[in-house]
Amino acid sequence: MASDSDEWSAALKAMGDTPGRQRCKKALSPADGPVCVTGASGFLALHLIEQLLEKGYTVTGSVRSSADETKMAPLLGFQKKYGEDKLLIADGVDCLKADSFNAAVSKCVGVFHTASPFHFNAQNPMKELVEPAVQGTSACLTACQKACTVKRVVVTSSFAAIANLGKYPFDYKYSSKDWNTVSQPDKDGQFSVPIPQNGYRYSKIAAEKAAWDFAAKEDCNFDVACINPPMIIGTNYNAPKSVADLNTSSATVLKILNGALAPNPNSMGWVDVADVARAHIAAYEHSEAGGHRFLCVTDEVPTWTEVAEILKELYPDLPVVTTPPEGGAGLKFGFDTSELKGLSGFRFTPLQASLKAQGDSLLNQQFCKRRKCEA
Ligand code: NAP
Repeated sequence: MASDSDEWSAALKAMGDTPGRQRCKKALSPADGPVCVTGASGFLALHLIEQLLEKGYTVTGSVRSSADETKMAPLLGFQKKYGEDKLLIADGVDCLKADSFNAAVSKCVGVFHTASPFHFNAQNPMKELVEPAVQGTSACLTACQKACTVKRVVVTSSFAAIANLGKYPFDYKYSSKDWNTVSQPDKDGQFSVPIPQNGYRYSKIAAEKAAWDFAAKEDCNFDVACINPPMIIGTNYNAPKSVADLNTSSATVLKILNGALAPNPNSMGWVDVADVARAHIAAYEHSEAGGHRFLCVTDEVPTWTEVAEILKELYPDLPVVTTPPEGGAGLKFGFDTSELKGLSGFRFTPLQASLKAQGDSLLNQQFCKRRKCEA
């Protein structure tokens, strides 16, 4: 898995913002046939599934296991609302089980591959993050090839596969053409500090590269598009039993609301979960999106301190820490999302509205109580 750094960097840079090619020349819609969403019980996938159902698509949602009733509850709610014949569940679809995607994508025209572990708790990032991310992408695409019905696969990548933190100038304006060439492991498979973060970042780079390598094969019978969001926030349809089960990006906002995460003067990209879902569907439906990757981030680029200030204003009785740290150079990067906006005038939800949707969800789920928050 570990690669020679120069060769690896050159291969990534060479791919730019159009790493693949367009094979499907027609605009796709519900009339073309059913679609599959992998990782169906996840924070993002639930929004994607609801938007697809709302548009009239027949969806198969694949889950690793249907045994957890709490995780399944939102999907069962969708089945009740839209009909069991509109949302089918494929159980036992595991990134680490090579053939487990076959039945889920069979007869589908479109596949949205969101399933991938996202957390910063890995003791062994290569095993816990990189292997499932890469093997899951390869298994999903192999199943799509076998199905012979799939026209386009939209893969959920990440800004983690774009950002060159510590390498590019502080005020660099990122776009879909950039590739993260600084988070790969050394020749022994070890990551530099912060180890879990760099392990996750590499899992997304390597998985996205695996998707483009698959799509580059002459006999590949579909095309690929990738969506690259940074921190995704907004309304949680997922309602985990405990904070430990909360998805990582929502948990980050919870930490700020709790006063458990001090602000810092570096900027971060944010995007509403509903916008990321819309971006996946736009990349599926617009024929010209095939072969492209799309940076998907709201126009505002606040520092973490500014985010804490917005949250403090929204929730004055929560213990949000807004005092900026002493010193700190301040990384203030920018974003060029013109490629995504080019797909039918795509517009982003303002950051404050997304932070409010996220904060309200956390309050509603009672993870965060006024004046006193669960740690
Ligand atoms: P999430 O709620 O944790 O969803 C992750 C999904 O992946 C879950 O459904 C999970 O299923 C599934 N999964 C993990 N390991 C798996 C495996 N070995 N086999 C099958 N399924 C597996 O997080 P999310 O934020 O919605 O993430 C969805 C996607 O967006 C991921 O690809 C992530 O990298 C990407 N992304 C997220 C953000 C963000 O800020 N949230 C930003 C950029 C990109 P289980 O319930 O069975 O674990």
